[in-house]
Amino acid sequence: MSAITVIGAGLAGAEAAWQIARQGIEVELYEMRPVKMTPAHHTEHFAELVCSNSLKGAGLDNAAGLLKEEMRRLDSLLMRAADRYAVPAGGALAVDREKFSQEITKILEEHPLIQVHREEVKSLPPSGIAVIASGPLTSEDLALDIQKVTGEDALSFYDAAAPIVTLESINMEKAFWASRYDKGDPDYLNCPMTEEEYKIFYNELIKAETAEVKGFEKGKIFEGCMPVEVMAARGEQTLTFGPLKPVGLIDARTGKRSYAVVQLRKENRAGTLFNLVGFQTHLKWGEQQRVFRLIPGLENAEFVRFGVMHRNTFLNAPKVLKADYSLQKSPNLFFAGQITGVEGYVESTASGLVAGLNAVRRLKNLPTLIFPQETALGSLARHLEGSPSVDFQPMSINYGLLPPLEVRIKAKKEKNAKISERALAKLEEFKAAEGLN
Ligand code: FAD
Repeated sequence: MSAITVIGAGLAGAEAAWQIARQGIEVELYEMRPVKMTPAHHTEHFAELVCSNSLKGAGLDNAAGLLKEEMRRLDSLLMRAADRYAVPAGGALAVDREKFSQEITKILEEHPLIQVHREEVKSLPPSGIAVIASGPLTSEDLALDIQKVTGEDALSFYDAAAPIVTLESINMEKAFWASRYDKGDPDYLNCPMTEEEYKIFYNELIKAETAEVKGFEKGKIFEGCMPVEVMAARGEQTLTFGPLKPVGLIDARTGKRSYAVVQLRKENRAGTLFNLVGFQTHLKWGEQQRVFRLIPGLENAEFVRFGVMHRNTFLNAPKVLKADYSLQKSPNLFFAGQITGVEGYVESTASGLVAGLNAVRRLKNLPTLIFPQETALGSLARHLEGSPSVDFQPMSINYGLLPPLEVRIKAKKEKNAKISERALAKLEEFKAAEGLN
């Protein structure tokens, strides 16, 4: 049987290569480091953690903890190395980054079915089955070729995302549903502000602390999308004539127009997650929570993703990808990692695991796997395929992507633990039905 090509031996590519090889299929693994470095990597090791050494929450009352447990149950190489080289980090799983990536590199380099090529790939393979896992800092030539194949508007080069909050954490006594001028379905949630509330919010926003901009992120990235704090700094009224303009938004409960309105738009098909329209931001995460919770209705908002602005090469997944991570137009090409529009180390690894399994399925002419919606693996992949494609922004795993429980449980920890329990039971059923080990 012919080999499968994997491009990029970062988190997703390393996991994909492992999943392919462990099923007895040869892998041609291409990694450009150290011949050509990215602006964020420091070593030549596979699966390098470029920034924090945390793989987020460890417990099963945490969505990232659930995703990791699902990967363990599918013999994930990266999870094995992470557990082996875990370092104490409270409720999170953090790792000794050197040992973690050295171990993964050694196992893959010594694997008899994996041929490693240390070279830059400049275009997509013209034939055969491949997993493209070249990451948020995909080299320029390859990125341009991906753009040629997927379409001009299907690949973004930076991420300017607004924060996302859960619907259940929004105070509906303050927020109201309405579309501007009553046009179309009232799909937007609106948080109205009095003049006094706006001024308090505004004054905190303009003095809030921003995150550091890395050298390679300076310059072009803010051209297309201005951070809300930068717009605010232009003058006290700029936002009320911009994203916070109140015209055409009447709260039916009072019949009145407010001084300013923050609009929230549905982020997923199920309508459990909402993004703050126009709030792309470069504020530090703690500051986002502090300042945006001053918005009436968001006092107790649960942020499943904070706003970010950084370099990130990612596909408009709902437009071009399927939930099995293959390209709609070219089913032999699979994508994995941050380039698919997932966000984070664990999410990138998880997509590599599924893409690797599916590349083998394709080679064997078997139907590809789409994991159940109730699992973290399935909900993440299905979100990529099914979320609105207009202004699609990357997503981390969170419980808002999984269907709610049939019974209502108030205590959050207990509810999350039950969702995880259901997910793991579903995963075991799915594994048995599909013959996965
Ligand atoms: P990568 O791990 O970057 O792997 C891609 C690999 O492809 C690299 O090894 C690269 O050298 C190689 N490659 C690229 N182009 C080519 C080519 N043409 N030919 C051959 N090889 C190629 N997530 C978190 O959860 N926590 C964090 O703290 C965090 N910090 C981040 C900091 C920065 C600066 C960036 C850019 C991202 C960060 N992320 C973080 C987001 C994301 O989780 C990581 O980028 C993660 O490494 C993505 O995994 P990946 O496999 O998609 O890409």
